[in-house]
Amino acid sequence: MGEIEGLAVRTGPEMVRTVADLRHRVALWRAAGERIAMVPTMGALHEGHLSLVRKGYERAERVVVSIFVNPTQFAPHEDFQTYPRTEARDLELLDLLGTDLVFAPSAAEMYPLGFATRVEPQGAALGLEADVRPHFFGGVATVVAKLLIACLPDLAVFGEKDFQQLAVVRQMARDLGLPVEIVGAPTVRESDGLAMSSRNAYLSPDERAAAPVLYGAMKAVADGVRAGEAPGPALRDAEARILAAGFRSIDYLALRVADTLEPWTGDNASARRPPLRLLVAAWIGRTRLIDNIAV
Ligand code: AMP
Repeated sequence: MGEIEGLAVRTGPEMVRTVADLRHRVALWRAAGERIAMVPTMGALHEGHLSLVRKGYERAERVVVSIFVNPTQFAPHEDFQTYPRTEARDLELLDLLGTDLVFAPSAAEMYPLGFATRVEPQGAALGLEADVRPHFFGGVATVVAKLLIACLPDLAVFGEKDFQQLAVVRQMARDLGLPVEIVGAPTVRESDGLAMSSRNAYLSPDERAAAPVLYGAMKAVADGVRAGEAPGPALRDAEARILAAGFRSIDYLALRVADTLEPWTGDNASARRPPLRLLVAAWIGRTRLIDNIAV
């Protein structure tokens, strides 16, 4: 907040664009013994992102939000150029939450000339998204590793909306020995069930009206499986329902073991059934939506 002739004027959260400035700011908080949370985002913020910031403040005195549309996680044919960029509005929203610091680096700051290293996660990064976007998790793991090393927060908050990504980040932090606790946060939805996403902005009114079928169809499968139904027919019914509502194609609708994301082939009615997760990715018009729920 600034002050002009006695009037309080919002000037937005503090913003830095270089790793050196980020480290300087964080060092002052560290010296004061404060806990620091980081929330990595690609901007175009919505209530889902803001819930992560709030979660950060439940666990730390200071929250740093990064805004960086990471080129290395987009394939050449994907929407890097057209991905929504709304920095001024993002800063206003973050200011309302009292966000301490925004880190919004340039691509050259993150990937200077000569940059030639890539983190290639395996394990949780295999299958599902990787079958359709083979470059994706390498790009995500590399940028998240760089962001966490730049900031070295006590914890970093990620949404369950991107459930496989959360598993990949947890695995990467563990495998590389990054001293950062990875915290997951539940998916925030619109009132009709559609998971909030920056990419929902691409939907036409008709597509937006059809999109909640993803959540409805997943819930029907989850209810059926919980009631002891065989997953196969329930999954096929759900796929038919999604396509009938106007989706153009389904990349995957898969029931997985929640912890490992391995395919679930065991006995559904068994008392030893582990927690499962149902994950979906599907195309409506020119937009690809992903979602997932616990079973
Ligand atoms: P993005 O800006 O899409 O890269 O997302 C940044 C972070 O926000 C990731 O950890 C996402 O999982 C999380 N996120 C995105 N949408 C939601 C949502 N609807 N609810 C909760 N978290 C979300």
